[in-house]
Order: sequence, then C-alpha cells, then structure tokens
Amino acid sequence: NVGLMWFRSDLRVVDNTALIASSRHCNSVLAVFVSTPMQWHEHHVAPIKIDLIHRRLVVLRQQLAKLNIPLTVVEVADYEQTPQAILELVRLHNIKHVFCNKQYEWNERQRDSLTAQLLKKHKIEFSAFDDECILAPGKVLTRKEEPFKVFTPFRREWLNIYRMEMPKVMAIPAKLNRSESLDTVFSKSCNQFTYPACDSVRWPVDEEAITQRLRTFCEEKVAVYHQKRDIPAVDGTSCLSPYLSIGALSPRQCMAALLAEFPLCFDEPENGAFCWLNEIIWREFYRHLIMAWPKLSREQPFQNWTRHVVWQQSDSMLKAWQQGMTGYPIVDAAMRQLKETGWMHNRLRMITASFLTKDLLIHWQFGEQWFMSQLIDGDLASNNGGWQWAASTGTDAQPYFRVFNPTIQGERFDPDGSFIRTWVHELKDVPDKYIHQPFLWNQAESLNYPRPIVEHKSARLRAIDVFKQAKSFM
Ligand code: FAD
Repeated sequence: NVGLMWFRSDLRVVDNTALIASSRHCNSVLAVFVSTPMQWHEHHVAPIKIDLIHRRLVVLRQQLAKLNIPLTVVEVADYEQTPQAILELVRLHNIKHVFCNKQYEWNERQRDSLTAQLLKKHKIEFSAFDDECILAPGKVLTRKEEPFKVFTPFRREWLNIYRMEMPKVMAIPAKLNRSESLDTVFSKSCNQFTYPACDSVRWPVDEEAITQRLRTFCEEKVAVYHQKRDIPAVDGTSCLSPYLSIGALSPRQCMAALLAEFPLCFDEPENGAFCWLNEIIWREFYRHLIMAWPKLSREQPFQNWTRHVVWQQSDSMLKAWQQGMTGYPIVDAAMRQLKETGWMHNRLRMITASFLTKDLLIHWQFGEQWFMSQLIDGDLASNNGGWQWAASTGTDAQPYFRVFNPTIQGERFDPDGSFIRTWVHELKDVPDKYIHQPFLWNQAESLNYPRPIVEHKSARLRAIDVFKQAKSFM
C-alpha cells in the first residue's frame, strides 16, 4: 500500500493536511516535487523564488527522510506534461493513491483535474485537500451563500467562523515503515532546476530559522505593528511572505503564534495584533476571490467597466519605472530595492503600483508581471489582488479618483529620506529639505539623477478623466 505525496506550494512537514492523510492511509509514502521550468517562465516566476524553493526542498528532503519518506524531484516542461509524469511515477512504484494540497489558481486547477482524470482511468485514487488558507475558499459566504466581494464583511464572517472552529496546527506525521521498494529514491540528490539562477541565500530555509522569525515577530514586534508597518526604513513587518508563498510556513502556524502572545486580539481592533491578523485575512480574501472568479487568474480585471480604460503604451516610461529612474525618489528607491533584492515593503508596493497605473497610466498587467518576475514572495492571488487594488480595477479597490501623490507618500513614510538614501545612491548627499524633490535643490544639476518623468498634478487629472470616460461606457 504505497502512496504518493505530491508537494507543490506546501513545502513543509508540520501542519500539512495532505501529508498527514497520506501517512495515515498508506504503509509507505513516496514524495515528489515536479519542476516545470517552461510553466514558471510563462508565469513569470522570479528566479530568486525558484532558488528559495530549491533550497527549501533540500531541507524538506532531510525532514522527510526522518519519517522514512523519500523525496524525488521530477522535471517536465510544463503543466501539460505533468499528469503523464505523475502517472509514470505511480506506475514505477506501484502506487495506489496520490495525495496533494489544492492550489487555487486557474492553470493549477486545470493541471490537477487532468491529473485526476488520467489517474482515474488507471484506477489510481487522487485526493486533494484544502490547506493553503485557514478557512477554505467556499467556506466564508454571504447570507445568500455567495462569495464576498468586499473585504470588511468578509473579515467579519471569517472571524465568526474562525472563532467557532479555531483550526489547530497539525503535528508532524508519525514515522512510517521503511519500504524496500522506495530505497533507491533515498540515494538520489536534489539536482538544480533548469531555470535562471538568482541567489536567495539571504532568506534562511531551515525550520528553526523560519519558526524563530515568526516567534520573535509575535513576541517583540506585533504589539507595535500598527505603528511601524508603513515605514519602509524600519523593520516593522514580519517578512514571512516568502515562506507563506512556498508553504514553508502555514497561515495556521502564524495564527497559533499570534494567539499564543495575544489571545484576546480579536476583541482589540485598535492594536497591532489585530492589525497583523487583518493582513493574514487579506491573504485569505484574495485566495477566495481567485477561486470564485477564475477570470482573475486569466488576465482580466474584476470590474468589467475598467476594460474600457485607455491605457498608455510607453516602453521608455515602463523601463524608467522598472529601473528606478522616474525622478520620484520614493518610487525609484523601492524599484531599485526590488530589482536588487527581490523584496519590496507593502507600502512601497502600493506607491509604485499607483505610480505605474495612475501617474504613467500603464496597464496594471505590466506591473503585475514585473513584480512576479522579481519578487521572492511572488504569488498570483496576492499580487493580482494588490495590483488590481492599486489600479482601481479590482473588487473593493482603491477608488479611481483617489490617486497617491508620490512626493507626499515619500514625505509621510520616509520623512528623513533614509530609505531613499539607502537605495538611490545619487541622492545620498541631498539635504533633507530636498530629498523628496531633488530637482528643486540648487545643486540638482550635479546629481546625475533624472527630473520627474511626469508631472504628478496633470497626470492625476488625466488618469481620473480616463477612468471617468471608461465608466461612462457602463
Ligand atoms: P506582514 O505585514 O508581516 O503581513 C503578514 C502576512 O500577511 C504576509 O506575509 C502576507 O502573507 C499577508 N499579507 C500582508 N499584506 C497583504 C496584502 N496586502 N495582501 C495579501 N496578503 C497580505 N504579497 C505576497 O505575498 N505576494 C505578492 O506577490 C504580493 N504582491 C503585491 C503586489 C502589490 C501591488 C501590493 C500592493 C501588495 C502585494 N502583496 C503581495 C501583499 C503585501 O505587500 C505582502 O504580502 C507583504 O508586503 C509581505 O510582507 P510581510 O511578510 O512582512 O507582511
């Protein structure tokens, strides 16, 4: 009775629903991760994220070996070839049952349904579990049993259900018997993927480091999260999103660590703990949305009327934004940090996304793609949600007439310009007074830093006008 545990975005042994089910149902279990470089390329997955996955798999392999579960890595081009690869593995090891945790993106769902069909033809069972969210998509519904489109009532209902069910963190499964038929797999190593390389070593992948980061954050930083979370120069957020995105950490683990420190956080909406919980619920909200509206995974806006927005096409403006050469210091600092490190602070994601879609009026999909291709925590649901929020094309998005002023955002969230100076070296000697508008400094000519590529005031009016016209098509 051999089972196959198919790992995807759930790279952990703790609190893993499918892994537990496979260990309970089968005498021995083989684990697999399928690498799909062509598919990753099509999905614009950042090389740094793939490196993180690879490094995490090395850890996972060791952890699984302690449970007598060998991990093998199979490489095929894309999702189209994946069902056959799974079938071949199943046949090779005489496997009767395949287990995995669900992924909610459209292509991933298609891949799974084709795999399930193929396995069924060969009389192999396929079981997929909800594991990526604390409350599974489809569980948090309006009174009319429909998915929520607005966050605040979603959160209210999410909290009601959570407090009734209080899902717990599941333990590591018990050690299985070692199966001779799987012995050869133990000796294979985890080859590099055929994918461009980018070092993610700044992000530790061992269990202890990840759980310690979560614990330290909950013990020392959550209490002031609401005060510090918007200041990019300060280490005020958890920086756990890369781990959540590859499933090295589960959202249930986050909740457990939070509640261990702040058991009453539900009742104190003004405090840092509630504020952090709010972000975990945003993560869930965007996952529920992509499950309910597959169009979100398929390059379409949530709000149909925004299809009529006449976006600008400008390769040079797009490039200036990508390279951090817009002449708006806070935007440029953020974009350079992203390019150099694969990371960007949430406040800066909002500012740079607003700048691209409103000030430059460039289609949000270009931004979504660029972020995906750079971010270590790139994740379709949250990235698409964030972009459609900023571009005012999403559900419960920023209203189109509210446009961030990048200079004021810089002044408010990086008042002394210390974040800007870290990333835009040309500006390191600019006096505080001019750090957000260096072109006003009388020595600006010597800076080798661009003047603003658009004038915010007129760009804002243009964007509002274009959105207004699009809305009149309704
Ligand atoms: P914390 O502030 O510590 O929050 C804890 C966790 O909650 C995060 O790790 C994350 O999983 C979740 N979370 C926090 N904020 C949000 C949010 N606004 N939406 C959804 N989940 C959230 N997040 C990604 O994980 N991947 C992405 O590709 C991504 N792209 C984004 C693009 C744009 C344009 C915007 C505006 C936001 C995007 N976000 C994305 C959401 C958010 O910026 C990051 O989750 C956050 O910056 C991660 O930092 P942290 O782990 O320190 O978060």
